[in-house]
Amino acid sequence: MEIQSVGIVGAGQMGNGIAHVFALAGYDVLLTDISQDSLDKAIALIDRNIERQVARGKVTAEAKAEAMARIGSTLTLADLGACDLIIEAATERETVKNAIFEDLLPHLQPHTILTSNTSSISITRLASRTDRPEKFMGFHFMNPVPVMQLVELIRGIATDKATYQTLLGVVERLGKTAASAEDFPAFIVNRILMPMINEAVYTLYEGVGSVRSIDESLKLGANHPMGPLELADFIGLDTCLAIMNVLHEGLADTKYRPCPLLTKYVEAGWLGRKTGRGFYDYSGAVPVPTR
Ligand code: NAD
Repeated sequence: MEIQSVGIVGAGQMGNGIAHVFALAGYDVLLTDISQDSLDKAIALIDRNIERQVARGKVTAEAKAEAMARIGSTLTLADLGACDLIIEAATERETVKNAIFEDLLPHLQPHTILTSNTSSISITRLASRTDRPEKFMGFHFMNPVPVMQLVELIRGIATDKATYQTLLGVVERLGKTAASAEDFPAFIVNRILMPMINEAVYTLYEGVGSVRSIDESLKLGANHPMGPLELADFIGLDTCLAIMNVLHEGLADTKYRPCPLLTKYVEAGWLGRKTGRGFYDYSGAVPVPTR
């Protein structure tokens, strides 16, 4: 099936990056969110980020203008009904995602493929709540989407071959690389990455190291481009906690127990870069460790 129009639900960190790469690849994009402010910020950010690619000579000014003209936004979820492909990239909470699909279903065309960018929630379970589990898949982009090469493709138990092949074609047109993962909690990347981040928070919680020493240790001692706490702030501490909870509940193993300090930061609303404070304080010119 040929995909041309793409509806994206959620204009946060991931939604704006996904809109960016689809528009540059020639797809018509319609972005929705519950907040007009998020939509306005997303469009402005996409403009700034593509402008940076223009300045680096990676994208022409003409391609940028065409891409920006292909992106529309709406506060009305039903407007996405005409799209060939839906990518849900809203908050990592199963009740939120189920409610979005429920509201969207009556407006969709029969051929529309439904996907979720969830980092961890069961694709089979999300799909089972819709009218088209055979046309439902996990479509997991990495952050920041314009930079990261990988896209995880996750088939639910009912996903058909045609849907999988169509999404493989989309990933190819985006110029990215697909990795297929089975539908188990957190798939491949986050099954491995999140327990490491959670362990870094335990290391901080138990006083083994400070924010700076933990991040420096992994950068200089394991050659990671970012320290785990810096990375957690970048991903969003609410998203990290949600993924640990899915691993803990889904695999019923205490090794996935979320660190109480991570929970406390999320309870405080200290969600990382997106709220200006997490393991670092981002209010000044340079991030300052908070512990
Ligand atoms: P975010 O908090 O930056 O953005 C979420 C957006 O969803 C917000 O703008 C919010 O207003 C919107 N939203 C909430 N409820 C909605 C609704 N009912 N309808 C429409 N919009 C709604 O979060 P994010 O980091 O962009 O994460 C989004 C999804 O992508 C999550 O499922 C997350 O697990 C996944 N993901 C995140 C990362 C990451 O590094 N942050 C990486 C890969 C996948």
